[in-house]
Amino acid sequence: MNAVNLLGFDLEGLAAYCEQLGEKRFRATQLFRWIHKRGASDFDQMSDLAKSLRDKLASRAQITALPVISEHVSADGTIKWLFDVGAGDAVEAVYIPESDRGTLCISSQAGCAVGCRFCSTGHQGFSRNLDTAEIIAQLWYAEHSLRRRQGSDERVISNVVMMGMGEPLQNYSALLPALRMMLDDHGYGLSRRRVTVSTSGVVPMIDRLRDDCPVALAVSLHSPVDALRDQLVPLNKKYPIAELLDACNRYLERAPRDFITFEYCMLDGVNDTPELAHELVELLRGHVSCKINLIPFNPFPASGLTRSSRERVTAFADILIKSGLITTVRKTRGDDIDAACGQLAGEVQDRTSAYVRMVRAPVLVKAAVVALPS
Ligand code: SAH
Ligand code: SF4
Repeated sequence: MNAVNLLGFDLEGLAAYCEQLGEKRFRATQLFRWIHKRGASDFDQMSDLAKSLRDKLASRAQITALPVISEHVSADGTIKWLFDVGAGDAVEAVYIPESDRGTLCISSQAGCAVGCRFCSTGHQGFSRNLDTAEIIAQLWYAEHSLRRRQGSDERVISNVVMMGMGEPLQNYSALLPALRMMLDDHGYGLSRRRVTVSTSGVVPMIDRLRDDCPVALAVSLHSPVDALRDQLVPLNKKYPIAELLDACNRYLERAPRDFITFEYCMLDGVNDTPELAHELVELLRGHVSCKINLIPFNPFPASGLTRSSRERVTAFADILIKSGLITTVRKTRGDDIDAACGQLAGEVQDRTSAYVRMVRAPVLVKAAVVALPS
């Protein structure tokens, strides 16, 4: 029998499922709270549900996280997990603790079809979309395993960024219920301002997100001119910069924050010149309310690209700041375990292929699975 994984249902979906079982819709709220607020995976724990319902659920449903292939903890507290999504594919999630927040960076796809020049996930190609259960399982697992190891019932993750592997807006139907679960007060209760979708610029889906579930938006820009962006982010040929910025302005009409974050990965000698900094100012200043986040490139051999020097990043940032654009340079976290959003994929690719090799030697796979203290 194929037991349905309840991690795949937002509250509305779970209510419909309960109705199918001949149960009142409000039972879904109780069930949803057990799963997402309390991290329950065993129906017998759910003491306020009738035994008959628990038995019914146990016979046809499950609450199952993704198998953990590896866990790496950095000296600065950053934790990176690699999850097995089957058929030799693996995806990553990263937890980044800070004094005033806990951020989880999660994946939306195994691989990615956009194929950005500087991105290791892009170089891997596209394997498949994650389903809603696989997206939310990353948050469910991280939140509740961290609470258990901290011995506390307090919320650990306050922010989620869709900046792991994959293009979230090319997996919209699975993303949307996952976002709703993050925001739901009966689920994770995260503020819309603290859930960020990062996109390479899938224009029609930016509009859909604005209409369906506006959360904070980050757009991976990387170049102020189409000719260069076409090469770095091939999707630009379909949705060029002017259309992308129009979509950003439409998004701002309903966005929970009054700015869009533009991400700009600093590539030595490619997009880090003073001329391009001035072009970026011309493009954005007075046209889109925004903040710019300069990201140090995480090099990997197949890219043939190198990271801009600190001096070039500073010079580029200075031009933007002096022109009045709010600009930050992303600090790297978890350097010792190669863990920072968007900077892991090269490492993951290596691990993934190592994992594929391990699949053929099942004993090793077992040894690689990390057992977490309960
Ligand atoms: N597909 C989405 C979200 C995942 S990528 C997007 O492109 O926005 C998350 C961020 O990591 C993006 O801004 C991306 O440009 C950046 N990134 C990808 N590869 C990188 C690398 N090698 N070094 C630094 N940042 C990288
Ligand atoms: Fe895909 Fe984002 Fe990587 Fe581009 S940067 S290939 S869109 S994951």
